[in-house]
Amino acid sequence: MISEKDALAAILNKVQPLPSCSTPLLGALDRFSARDIFARLPLPPFDNSAMDGYAVAAESSSAGKRLRVKSEQPAGEDRNLELKPGEAIRIFTGAPIPAGADAVIMQEDVERLGNEIIPKVNAQPHEFIRRKGSDLAEGQKIVGLGERIRPQTLGVLASQGLAEIEVGDVPRVAIISTGNELVPLSGTPKRGQIYESNSIMLHALTEKAGAAVVLVEHCADDPAALKQTLQRGMQNDVLIVSGGMSVGDHDFVKPGLSSLGAAIDLWRVAMRPGKPCLFGGAANGSIFGLPGNPLSAFCTFLKFVRPALLKMMFAAGDELFLPKVICSLTCDVENDGDRAHYLHGDLRVAGFTPIGRQESHALYGLSRANALLRIGPGARLRAGENVAVEVWA
Ligand code: AMP
Ligand code: MG
Repeated sequence: MISEKDALAAILNKVQPLPSCSTPLLGALDRFSARDIFARLPLPPFDNSAMDGYAVAAESSSAGKRLRVKSEQPAGEDRNLELKPGEAIRIFTGAPIPAGADAVIMQEDVERLGNEIIPKVNAQPHEFIRRKGSDLAEGQKIVGLGERIRPQTLGVLASQGLAEIEVGDVPRVAIISTGNELVPLSGTPKRGQIYESNSIMLHALTEKAGAAVVLVEHCADDPAALKQTLQRGMQNDVLIVSGGMSVGDHDFVKPGLSSLGAAIDLWRVAMRPGKPCLFGGAANGSIFGLPGNPLSAFCTFLKFVRPALLKMMFAAGDELFLPKVICSLTCDVENDGDRAHYLHGDLRVAGFTPIGRQESHALYGLSRANALLRIGPGARLRAGENVAVEVWA
C-alpha cells in the first residue's frame, strides 16, 4: 500500500500537459495559460481624470480664487489642450489630462459662474489623476504559465488588446461504471439492486474540473464484456473506472486492464475512504480505477483525478489543488486507524463540522458537504483547534 502523498506524487510525475492551443478570450475561461503573458501597454495607458470636474494647476489654484474655464476635454479624444496660470479646463472621467494641469477638482467642489469657477477647496497635486502605468507597468507579468484564466483575467487580457491566448487543451475522458447490482436511471431496481449513481457524479466532477466527458458506459462484472468496454475507454486521454477494483470474486477491472497491456503504476492507497484505488497508463492516456463506494469514488477523484486532469490542462503549482482554508474545528475528531482519514463536512463561518455518516458507502452527508479535512493516522484534533480544510464549491 502506498501513502496518498506518494500516490499523488507518482501520478503527477507521470501525467503530462496535453499540447496547448490558441483560443479566443472567452473560450479560455477556467482553462490554464500555456504561456507567461506580459503587459504590452501600461495601465492606465495615459494620465487621465478620475472625476468629472476641472483640471487645474494645483500651485495656481486655491479655494475662493476665480479661474477662467478655457475649454473642455472630454473622454475618448485628446484635444491637446494646454493650461495656463489662472485657467481651468472642464474635464470628464477618463479624459486625458491637459498639459500644464496636475490636479482635478471635483465638479461638486466648485461654484460655476458663467465661464469661470470658484473652487471651494484647495487642489492637491496629483489629486483625482490616474497616473499612466500606476496600475500596471509595460512589460509586467499579467498571467503566469499554468494559471487559471478567470473572468477578471479576461478583463486584464482584453485591456492589452489581446483577442486570443494560448491555453492547455481539454482532456477527453471516458467513464465506465461496473457492477452487476447497478441499474440505470431508466430502469427499476429489483430487490438486491441499486441505482447506478457514480457515473453521473464522476461526470459532473470531471466537467467541473474543465475536462470533456466523451464516453459514459456501464458494464456488468463479466470479464469478457469488461475487457471490450475497457478497451473502448482506453482510447481516450483519461479513463475513469468505478468499482470492481478490490479483490472480490467479481472484481475484474485490474486483470482486465492488465490483459489489455495497461501498465498498473499503483494500486491501493493508504487512505480512508478510497483504499482500492488504481492508477495506470495505456499507450494513449491515463487510467484511474476508483473504488465503487460513492464516498470513496468522490474523495479519490478529488485527491488524484482532479489534479491529474488539471495538470493535463497546463495547470501548475497551487492551481492543481483545491483551495485550502484555515478554520476552527467545531468538535473533537480522531483517527485511530493507520490510514489517513478524510472527513467531509460543512464549512461555515462557525468553522468546520463533519456532516453525515463518514463510511465509504454513505452519500447523503457528502451531498451536503463542501469541504474535506484530512486527519493523519493516530491524530486527535480538538474542538476550537485551527485546521486546514480543502474546499470545493
Ligand atoms: P465495488 O468497488 O465494485 O466492490 O463496489 C463497492 C460498493 O459500491 C458496492 O456496495 C456497490 O454496490 C457500490 N457501487 C459500486 N459502483 C457503484 C455505482 N456506480 N453507483 C452506486 N454504487 C456503486
Ligand atoms: Mg462491484
